[in-house]
Amino acid sequence: MEKPHGIMFHHFHDKFEHPKGQGSIDKIQFEKLIIYLKKTYKLLNAEDWYNKAIKNQLLNGEICLTFDDNLKCQYDVALPVLEKYGLTAFWFIYSSPFTGVMERLEIYRNFRSTMYQKVSDFYNDFDNEINSSNEYEKVKFGLKNFSNNYLSDFSFYSYEDKKYRYVRDNILGPKRYYRVMDRLIKKTKFNIDEKCKNLWMGENHIKNLNKKNHFIGLHSHSHPTMMKSLSLKKQKNEYLTNYNILTDMINESIFCVSHPCNSYNNLTLEILNDLRIKIGFRANMKEGFISKLELPRIDHSILIQNLNL
Ligand SMILES: [Zn+2]
Repeated sequence: MEKPHGIMFHHFHDKFEHPKGQGSIDKIQFEKLIIYLKKTYKLLNAEDWYNKAIKNQLLNGEICLTFDDNLKCQYDVALPVLEKYGLTAFWFIYSSPFTGVMERLEIYRNFRSTMYQKVSDFYNDFDNEINSSNEYEKVKFGLKNFSNNYLSDFSFYSYEDKKYRYVRDNILGPKRYYRVMDRLIKKTKFNIDEKCKNLWMGENHIKNLNKKNHFIGLHSHSHPTMMKSLSLKKQKNEYLTNYNILTDMINESIFCVSHPCNSYNNLTLEILNDLRIKIGFRANMKEGFISKLELPRIDHSILIQNLNL
């Protein structure tokens, strides 16, 4: 039996408000997956998993469900299925959307999913935009260090997915990347304000989840893609702001975290320890981590792929 771990979910789609995107699943696939997990593993509620985890009592084969990024599609599509099976889960919430910030990570993803038939069409436009800009030389030079081994833990990423992420995170960095994407968006009819309305959960959704015994956890304030490259001060600011906004919202302490984009370093773990966070989740199943702030998770896409759901 596999070691105890979480199952990590992000995007869901339906026929109404939530468009299909890369890696997204619908409620039927989700339900099939739940049925499979219940049959194959011991699927625990959030509270039971948490209590066992902090006491080092988790057994092999004991798993839990986790949802990252406070997405409204999770609430609309996945929550009713969880309720049907009497399950609770961990929900990892980044807080900047509650302060009115339309975080680009999600906007850009929505842009990719709704404005392009295939993600490869988007990658083409993205490459063309760079090639016709003054980032061209920088990216061309930087890509000399790129290989298919990059992000090799994410078996469901294609070569193109990896290259795009490499350019975004390792060559351009946030500011330059935003400039490229914003130029790309400006050339289309994509309306950011309109799209934003339905992307994230609101305060009431979070309060409601908490009331229903789901576990609300940290996920940083602005969801940087490379937390480990930030200074101590910036990292502290990310997690303190996140902590304050969420604890104010649910009026309770928070004890869990998942690392945005699986990025953290020793400074991050110290900050989380200072906030008295008890358990934390990574975003893959890699071996060799003993800290309770580095628990393994498997991405739902790997299961969906393996099971052919
Ligand atoms: Zn995230």
